[in-house]
Amino acid sequence: MSREILPQPGMEIIEMDVRYCDVCGNHSGWVIEDHNGGVEVSCRCDLDYYLKEGKPLPNPGMICPDGTLWWRPISDHKAADGRSWHTPYFGGPGLHPHKK
Ligand SMILES: [Zn+2]
Repeated sequence: MSREILPQPGMEIIEMDVRYCDVCGNHSGWVIEDHNGGVEVSCRCDLDYYLKEGKPLPNPGMICPDGTLWWRPISDHKAADGRSWHTPYFGGPGLHPHKK
């Protein structure tokens, strides 16, 4: 799927490698963001894996449920003004559930 991936306003994406996941229908991969460095983009499968293994979720982390990059809810990131922001659990869209 070659849909364009768009950042949220305020994100400064330098480089990215984000691919569509056929299993859950979200995108996953990584980006390099100007203020936060390398950031993992997690699809539903990735997040399920962390939860199942009892591992901490990537922080900061991004999700890409709809071709748009979002800061993953309940993660922290630095903004262009150097301040730290916490994304609340309602601060973005949820990920699509698995297709199957
Ligand atoms: Zn997936």
